[in-house]
Amino acid sequence: MKKKLLLCVILLLTALPLICQAHTTLSKGGKPKARIVNLTETPHTEIAADILGRFLGESLGGSIPVTGAAALKKGDIVLTDCEVPGVGEDGFLIEVKDGKVFISGREKGVVYGVCDFLEKELGMDYWGNFEYDLPLHADLTLPCKSRLENPTFRYRQASHWCLRNGNAAATSDNGVNKIRSADTLYRWWYRLEEPHELFVDNLWVHTCKHLLPVEKYGETHPEYYAWYGGERHPGSASQWCLSNPEVFEIVCATLDSLFNANPGLGMISISQNDGSDTFCRCPECQRIIEEEGSPSGPIMRFINAVAERFPDKQISTLAYLFSVKPPKVTVPRDNVSIMLCDIDCRRQTALTENPSGQEFMECLEGWSRLTQNIFLWDYGINFDNYLSPFPNFGTIKDNMVIFRDHGVKMHFSQINSSLGGDFAELRPYIVSKLMWNASADLDSLENHFCKGYYGAAAPYVLHYIHELEGASIGTDQELFIYDSPVTFKNTTLRPALMKRYNVLFDQAEAAVADDPVRLKRVQRSRLSLQYSALEIARTDPDHDAVTVSKDLDLFESRVKEFGIETLNERTNKPLDYCALYRKRYLNNDSDNLSFRRPVIFIIPPKEKYMTIARTALTDGLYGGAGYVESWVGWEGTDADFVIDLGEEKSVSSVSVDFLRQIGAWVMEPLGMKVLLSSDGENYTLFNEESFPETRDGTIGFKTVTLGGSLSGRFVRIQVEGLKICPEWHYGVGNPCWFFIDEVSVR
Ligand SMILES: [Zn+2]
Repeated sequence: MKKKLLLCVILLLTALPLICQAHTTLSKGGKPKARIVNLTETPHTEIAADILGRFLGESLGGSIPVTGAAALKKGDIVLTDCEVPGVGEDGFLIEVKDGKVFISGREKGVVYGVCDFLEKELGMDYWGNFEYDLPLHADLTLPCKSRLENPTFRYRQASHWCLRNGNAAATSDNGVNKIRSADTLYRWWYRLEEPHELFVDNLWVHTCKHLLPVEKYGETHPEYYAWYGGERHPGSASQWCLSNPEVFEIVCATLDSLFNANPGLGMISISQNDGSDTFCRCPECQRIIEEEGSPSGPIMRFINAVAERFPDKQISTLAYLFSVKPPKVTVPRDNVSIMLCDIDCRRQTALTENPSGQEFMECLEGWSRLTQNIFLWDYGINFDNYLSPFPNFGTIKDNMVIFRDHGVKMHFSQINSSLGGDFAELRPYIVSKLMWNASADLDSLENHFCKGYYGAAAPYVLHYIHELEGASIGTDQELFIYDSPVTFKNTTLRPALMKRYNVLFDQAEAAVADDPVRLKRVQRSRLSLQYSALEIARTDPDHDAVTVSKDLDLFESRVKEFGIETLNERTNKPLDYCALYRKRYLNNDSDNLSFRRPVIFIIPPKEKYMTIARTALTDGLYGGAGYVESWVGWEGTDADFVIDLGEEKSVSSVSVDFLRQIGAWVMEPLGMKVLLSSDGENYTLFNEESFPETRDGTIGFKTVTLGGSLSGRFVRIQVEGLKICPEWHYGVGNPCWFFIDEVSVR
């Protein structure tokens, strides 16, 4: 191998005369003249030769011979996997001269070079899921040129639905949306990487639970786990007591065996479990936190000590939620990588342009003063509603430049581009192109993608994208990754704008009416708007049930046709949503005795919900799948409130609706009691029920209906809250919530 590498460097140097002598002809009169020379015959040139051979042959109209090292002749495309001066990790050099093409780079670099060659010299576009556009070239002659590229970020991670393994087969009658198994070309084309390629045992984030399992140590050594609120919390999502020397030794021993078992990989993550405010505040940890001015202090001291023990390995750790602020004293060692996450930032503008972003910028600036070894984890979609407009392309671009300028070397853009999600194909295209070259022009990227992907519909789709983004900036509406479309009903998605967006999509659909492939792409991209309209309609007391019902039918038929699997990060299914929508929002609730009746609070909800609480519980409108709108929340307490029916009524049932969203610490309560009274002072028990515990991670509703037979004017509802996040939950030991929207008395 070493000999071959040396050979390729010599060949490269001798093959490049100072002045280019001839154009390079790869095809003439419909006859291919090209040959692929796999000079180094490494695994990566094999892949490169496969990709090039297949698409070049298709474009030139004939099969392209592939050979190993051979005497070079005109028309040869020479692939070399080797170090090239000026070419860094993942970079490549393309030289067209002397009648030949030379594509070279180290390992993945040569594959990326081939994809770049196909894209720029042949005009090929790859959309994913085996869909691509490739012009035919009966005659292809290339002028002399030389192109050397190195990526902005040496590691680039993002997502596209076609990358997922085992994607359920979704088919439509016309076959247009047939989904096959995971697409292996996509990652090469978009130059994306996966954590398992880098991190030992795929231990790349939230690894504490694996490195010091609570099942093994929780019972015998609770002192290994975080102390706060007066006790140790050895739960499955607990953080560690980082000042405990035994924890350090156990973790080092575990790392030692992991490194030995995985000799090819040199990076591992020791990173806090998910959850906020769960770090250790025992006297020693607290002392370090105060000295360092941040809970990242004990983490950094621990990680540095590990890094010192393993000086030839890279130790990665999180700066996330409670640890996002850098330490004042400790400087990360050279072999420590900081995975810095901007999860709480708003996305309507760049990080430097809004308060939450500015707060994060202080942390980024602080970390970049300490180290240039930063892995930036960015978030670019609505995680509670993938099918919700998320106008952030401009922000993605601006933030990418900021990251580059602050020494970020590795980047994960978490855009969960699930099938049917908001611009789930354009978003990873933009993200991947910018991760490769943060200086790339955003307009050109959008235009190029839309023209190719949507064809004649492109002008309307682009108009929509720009109009939405303009509305977002113009209304100064915060864009957060856990919003609901309802959040935007008076701003970005207000009725006048929704009307305009729909006109644009009508025009887009009309423009490609006789192009079934592109029509389906347009319709799939329209799902976000349709879903948002449904979400907004359910909060409008005057909605026209017939129109909404028709809209719901159309949405349902489309998600079925396109095989849309999930609505959000919690894998809620779109078809379940449609069924629930009919039951929950389109049902006539006219015999509800509590409709628009006043509510008197004895144990009130959390302060910030008091305004909405005055009407929300009895307004006849049921909350949706997210606590950010319509719901009334209690945190760390029970609830106790009375609905005044206005006069004595005979009551046969009382229903209360609860939200379950345990990812957001919204847990189902322990039980509920209903009492009735005629005078508002003396109450009689109507009925009561205890609820079983649930650990169901999907977002859902729990409707509890208690039957009975009593009469009264005042209906008192007492809910026993769970109050504290349990051991299995990642908020372990912290107050949790429950949310109610809508009480119905019959
Ligand atoms: Zn501690």
